[in-house]
Amino acid sequence: MAELDAEADALTPGEIAAAFKASLPTSYLSLPREIPMTVEGFTPVPASSGARIKGARVDPMPGSGHSDVIDFSAEGISLMQPNRTVIGMRWPEVAVALWWSDGRRTLIGPDGSGINIIPAKWRSVESLLAAIRQWVPADRWIPMDEPGTLPRQEGPICAICESTPAIEVTLQDTRSLLMIWFKRVHGVLCRDCGIAKFREVQRRVLVRGWWSIPGLLATPIALLYNTVVYFRFKRLAVPIHSSGITPLPKGRTVWLDPGMLIPAGLALALIWIFWPR
Ligand SMILES: [Zn+2]
Repeated sequence: MAELDAEADALTPGEIAAAFKASLPTSYLSLPREIPMTVEGFTPVPASSGARIKGARVDPMPGSGHSDVIDFSAEGISLMQPNRTVIGMRWPEVAVALWWSDGRRTLIGPDGSGINIIPAKWRSVESLLAAIRQWVPADRWIPMDEPGTLPRQEGPICAICESTPAIEVTLQDTRSLLMIWFKRVHGVLCRDCGIAKFREVQRRVLVRGWWSIPGLLATPIALLYNTVVYFRFKRLAVPIHSSGITPLPKGRTVWLDPGMLIPAGLALALIWIFWPR
């Protein structure tokens, strides 16, 4: 502290003026709303931010005391006020998404402008809430409820990371070596953990399934069965990770796995055996 005081005492008025001049072009000036904005060298910050999104429209609930309109699409979301001020952001630009278990959402854009959504104030708001949940990147979500006040989630929760939504699935973990074992992996999983689990099991089946006569038939069926489960996970909304537990690492796609060489080799062998000569 004394050091800072000494430094301040040593400054000359000229140095202070120079520092002020240097910082002026990048300064923000905030004025009370009722004071006219006439300071030379400053331009007013536009009230709008971002562009209006064209897509589905959400109207105010009658009697909700506001006349704003929300538009949203796969691209982003925008809110337009009656004076045509627009706050718009594309989904990847959402810096922070605050959520409450009563359905309230606040989306904050990169410049600090925000869109508040209180479900009771909007007509047929469900599809908007579903879109927000689907499109806002998972790492932007911040749960805002006081701990333990309300049940945090509805429906089944992921057995690994405790997020929602999650579905109950069975994956076929067929393996064979002269004889065959029809093993299964069963559980309730979210999209991220589900895809990770699918890849782990599918990779195992690719390598271990083929090595018996029934295995040659059962393995393609198991691979196909698991692929159907994979697409069920793909269709699931992106989970909201609020528990602090990290989901399983997703890993690489199975289709480029070295294990794919086995069915490819088997197919080539069959062609070679049955090729008419
Ligand atoms: Zn999970």
